[in-house]
Amino acid sequence: MAILNNRLSPSAYAEHFQDIHPPFETLDAALVEANRCLFCYDAPCTKLCPTSIDVPKFIKQIATGNVRGSAHTILSANIMGAGCSKVCPVEKLCEGACVFNLMHEPPINIARLQRYSTEKAMAARWPLFTRKPPTGKRVAVVGAGPAGLSCAHALSREGIDVTLYEREPKGGGLMTYGIAAYKVTPEFCEEEVQYILSLGGVTIQYEQTLGANLTLETLQAQYDAVYLAFGVGQARQLNIPGEALEGVVDALSFIYQLRAEGFSAVPVGDKVAVIGMGMTAIDAATQARRLGASEVTLVYRRTQDEMPCTQHELDIAKLDGCQVIWLAAPSEVLGLDGKVQQLVCERMELGEPDASGRRSPKPTGETFAMHVDMVIKAAGQEPFGALVSNLSLAHKQGRVQVADKTRTNLPGVFAGGDCVNGGREVVDAVQAGKDGAASILIYLAGSHS
Ligand code: SF4
Repeated sequence: MAILNNRLSPSAYAEHFQDIHPPFETLDAALVEANRCLFCYDAPCTKLCPTSIDVPKFIKQIATGNVRGSAHTILSANIMGAGCSKVCPVEKLCEGACVFNLMHEPPINIARLQRYSTEKAMAARWPLFTRKPPTGKRVAVVGAGPAGLSCAHALSREGIDVTLYEREPKGGGLMTYGIAAYKVTPEFCEEEVQYILSLGGVTIQYEQTLGANLTLETLQAQYDAVYLAFGVGQARQLNIPGEALEGVVDALSFIYQLRAEGFSAVPVGDKVAVIGMGMTAIDAATQARRLGASEVTLVYRRTQDEMPCTQHELDIAKLDGCQVIWLAAPSEVLGLDGKVQQLVCERMELGEPDASGRRSPKPTGETFAMHVDMVIKAAGQEPFGALVSNLSLAHKQGRVQVADKTRTNLPGVFAGGDCVNGGREVVDAVQAGKDGAASILIYLAGSHS
């Protein structure tokens, strides 16, 4: 067993990481699907979209040949509608709510239709939005992920000048750095950011880190308002012996390297254990397989009924050949010469529901060992607790506390997205950015109380 990079040929990487949800290839194919839609009144698909995209309207626009209009409908509600068409867990959102499910027929392929329109808009650089005349107001946005970009775009449309401060060398946040490459490529994310910024009125400064080379006091002094959308921080530690051995990595770093440096640069083991069962765990496991690992096993301390990922995501992992061990929690990593050799796990059983409403796992005292050479930790992310405390922001276990979804305890400072909710879907962050912009506009108009 060994951890190696460059395991596969360029053609094998290309095949393994090809688009998992290919677009409609022809207008006719899109029209056939669009014309299946019943254009429901009070459409449940729209109600389940966190950004409230008017789904029947945009599908009707496609069906009548108004693709540009449909892109406007989508992007008016969700400026990252192109990326969301690739990464949203639609099976539990719009498509999961489609009335066709009640008739035991396949739901309308909403994501694919959304992708059809928005990719055309991006490719042609349709200028779908304009800015109102400048107001003279200036807002700083910290974090150029989905929440920050959404907030910046909404403010710019209202004539506000926005400066985005981003700690990474590219914008897009977890869209750019934290999602499986077979769902959305880094190149696509870069294009989407550029398309959003093509509105004008938003400048972006990269490699600016709040609490390091950027201070909140400076932003408060220089801008009329500040929106914080700095996301969440490091991967949650397992806090077990052997965690520092060579071969134990965190999932986000693994995915980040894959996206920043390319497939052949990323070392992967022969036998890999992935701890966790959220979307990031699935993305890490499937990509470890696609990079050439011979065995990948997901280890989760509860059962399938409590898993955070969707059934669709689990199916992807299983189709990729990933194994799953339910009701097991890691207790120790054993090594030789400083390198991972085994993962020791304790068998669990479910007890009473915890604060999340899910039955909580309890150790049974029985253990077993897996022979692995790599352990990928995907047990969630910690908020930036120290940063939030240092900024004197009211918080709960590191999550920024806000009133009316957006207002922090500091005057003129607003927050949203993962730094507030602890980490949800991209589409939730987009809506948070819209909410933040709406609050900031009221604040700047002087009508806040
Ligand atoms: Fe169309 Fe389904 Fe939405 Fe009804 S629920 S409007 S059929 S996509």
